[in-house]
Amino acid sequence: EETKSLNFIEQIIEDDLANGLENNKLRFRFPPEPNGYLHIGHAASICLNFGLGQKYHAPVNLRFDDTNPAKEEQEYVDAIKKDVQWLGFQWDKELYSSDYFQQLHDWTIELIKEGKAYVDEQSSEEIRTQKGTPTSPGTDSPFRNRSVEENLDLFNKMKNGDFDEGEVVLRAKIDMKHNNMHMRDPILYRVLKKHHHRTGNDWCIYPMYDWTHGESDYIEQISHSICTLEFKSHRELYDWYLDQVVESDKLRPKQREFARRNLSYTVMSKRKLLQLVENGVVNGWDDPRMPTISGLRRRGYTPESIRNFSDVAGISKRDNITDVALLEFCIKDHLNKTAPRVMAVLDPVKVIITNYPEDGEEFLDANYNDYAEGFGSRKVPFSREIYIEKEDFREEANKKFFRLKLGAEVRLKNAYIIKAESCVKDENGEVTEIHCTYDTDSRSGSGSEASKRKVKGTIHWVSIKHAEKAEVRVYDRLFIDEAPDSHKDKDFMEFINPNSLEVVTAFVEPSLKSASVGNRFQFQRKGYFCVDNDSTKNNLIFNRTVPLRDTWAK
Ligand code: ATP
Ligand code: MG
Ligand code: MG
Repeated sequence: EETKSLNFIEQIIEDDLANGLENNKLRFRFPPEPNGYLHIGHAASICLNFGLGQKYHAPVNLRFDDTNPAKEEQEYVDAIKKDVQWLGFQWDKELYSSDYFQQLHDWTIELIKEGKAYVDEQSSEEIRTQKGTPTSPGTDSPFRNRSVEENLDLFNKMKNGDFDEGEVVLRAKIDMKHNNMHMRDPILYRVLKKHHHRTGNDWCIYPMYDWTHGESDYIEQISHSICTLEFKSHRELYDWYLDQVVESDKLRPKQREFARRNLSYTVMSKRKLLQLVENGVVNGWDDPRMPTISGLRRRGYTPESIRNFSDVAGISKRDNITDVALLEFCIKDHLNKTAPRVMAVLDPVKVIITNYPEDGEEFLDANYNDYAEGFGSRKVPFSREIYIEKEDFREEANKKFFRLKLGAEVRLKNAYIIKAESCVKDENGEVTEIHCTYDTDSRSGSGSEASKRKVKGTIHWVSIKHAEKAEVRVYDRLFIDEAPDSHKDKDFMEFINPNSLEVVTAFVEPSLKSASVGNRFQFQRKGYFCVDNDSTKNNLIFNRTVPLRDTWAK
């Protein structure tokens, strides 16, 4: 860990420490707006901020940025707390921007008294056109030079509910000709006659993001306020607002920016994710196809895999798209080391072992992982009739087909070597039954000569009379386009994959009857699967987390 090179945010902190910032002054925050569920992009910010906290033994606050009552809900607050904890992090203090409404209001009164804020009665359209463009200056509002007394009176009326939404705003009086558009008299407060999930109906004016964020950082004495790149141009305003309130004996927070995490084949903004939920494209925020933390959890992702992904993907100064394959690699890598390996047949065809006793059955030893210690084992039942995957049989095939074909042998994992003798087909030519014989001495692990016989292929199977029926939800990407929200002329909703969910009836080995919600398994040769929340004792449901792609190492 010590030798790992610093990322650029760590470098900024190291420089600050070298320049005299005391280590015990370091303090960070993760500031979600509770207007939706957290996604894998937030995980980057969580891992970055809480990771800095761990590295520098500094506190990290969880601050809900709850200044827009129209979109925020307690449900989201609860979900966010759950997700941060599930990822393995613990905040120092749970705080809310709304806790600072009174302080922000009081500071605002000071601003007005100093002639630095005014009530504007123009429409938002008028205000917008007066803003100018990056290459042409804005124009002053006709209300810009009201007297302090008038502004105090009008702001008080705003606060008391004497104005309707949209009638008036309070603006900072900075510079309408400033070359940074954010400095052209930004809005400090707007009227919103909405119930707030924490302050109820105490307020009908709500502070804007910029005015709230830096001042909240200052109140909490956050040393490094890390946000995403789109706020870089806001930094000047962040600093201007701090200038209005910072006292010399207090720490002055510093805003620094890193590139948003984007992931291929999905969208990441909460607004768009909400659209997917509201339009029924997915079954809720925690649908396993969603890039949300709760969706990934339900899909079978582990916290370790997401933390590792954040680490490997790193942080960047420039916008970019991270390949979803990297995220998939991280979960495969973790489950490869941790998930017990079991047998399940997803697309069954019946095999009859003609020389096996009619009513015979036996319980074979099977390791949960043949390549690592500590996984233990279970018994798997074997009998005369088994299911194998349809794709594992061909009547005829070339030499490269190492599965079952007529006249050739294959090993059944944990069991015997079988040879296909004939098959039965229906009127459409579909194979419905494969008749095989087995080598009676070839049982795996028996130590016999035949058990050591080299056969090219090994396939998985389940005993029909012992198998458990299970619903398996096989997920594919939610979008067919690598960057669905990057098209100027097309809405991201046009790129939804119509086949992102396929539900199949599978047959799984009976040991899985006792699996509980959230348990993760490798279904050998098929991929990683976990027990879904909807699963019950009599109705087992698995989600496919990720396919294996490669067949097992021999
Ligand atoms: P969204 O558009 O998804 O709502 P947001 O930035 O408005 O994103 P917030 O709840 O305000 O969402 O974000 C909380 C913190 O997480 C902020 O510091 C924000 O910069 C960071 N964050 C949000 N999305 C990403 C992302 N895709 N990559 C990295 N950090 C992110
Ligand atoms: Mg935000
Ligand atoms: Mg947002």
